[in-house]
Amino acid sequence: MENGKVRVGFYALTSCYGCQLQFAMMDEIIQLLDKANIECWFMVERDSDEDREVDIAFIEGSISTEEEVELVKKIREKAKIVIAVGSCAVHGGVQSWGNDKELEELWKTVYGDGKVKFEPRMAEPVEKYIKVDYRLYGCPPEKKDFLYALGTFLIGSWPEDIDYPVCVECRLKGNSCILIEKGEPCLGPLTVAGCDARCPSYNIACIGCRGAIGYDVAWFDSLAKTFKEKGLTKEEILERMRIFNAHNPKLEEMVNKIFEEGE
Ligand code: SF4
Ligand code: SF4
Ligand code: SF4
Repeated sequence: MENGKVRVGFYALTSCYGCQLQFAMMDEIIQLLDKANIECWFMVERDSDEDREVDIAFIEGSISTEEEVELVKKIREKAKIVIAVGSCAVHGGVQSWGNDKELEELWKTVYGDGKVKFEPRMAEPVEKYIKVDYRLYGCPPEKKDFLYALGTFLIGSWPEDIDYPVCVECRLKGNSCILIEKGEPCLGPLTVAGCDARCPSYNIACIGCRGAIGYDVAWFDSLAKTFKEKGLTKEEILERMRIFNAHNPKLEEMVNKIFEEGE
């Protein structure tokens, strides 16, 4: 705290900047200035400095360069609370989808022989390198989640995590189930809730952009079994589940188990 205000930092790693843009566009950000000093947030504050100490650090993006490994370690040292913001920071993001391939192969596909000033690495979640205290899920997270977490920390309390899937919100809205009724590969059963079942409410199958639920309840195996019964191959199931969950240590093993059982 400084002059009774909480010191906040917002840092970007490899990302599309969509998370911070989502929050920077909020009207409520003006009210935040009464309660908080923004020590670092290049998108909204010209006088930003990554080296300042903060009470709350929001980190967007996946770790995809050697420089970013050093940056997150520095942020962790200078922050009391670290919040991973969005699927890139929490799960490694869509850029981790190709992590079953070699870095050189991916690099050549995208950049050819192009040279850059940084040292690239395969995309990884922030938690791989530093302790994360709280997670804001989504691509990007919902504004209400940001306000809830920030408001709760500002009054000295701790926000709750979400431990139930998109299906709960979907059924509460009275949607018909596109997985059961249309046989489409909806990832709602294993994806952490909070988006109010946005895609199924428009009759579009969830692709899991908020990532799999924690607490060992992301049942990749039971959903893979259902997808298999609907005619999807193992490769198709893995490809779909990996979009936002490429770093989940249980995904491959659980899906493989279903196909071994049936062989
Ligand atoms: S989580 Fe989504 S919106 Fe946020 S930075 Fe990553 S790609 Fe962009
Ligand atoms: S449509 Fe998808 S999110 Fe909705 S209940 Fe069915 S599986 Fe769950
Ligand atoms: S329904 Fe699924 S893909 Fe759509 S916003 Fe929610 S979590 Fe993301």
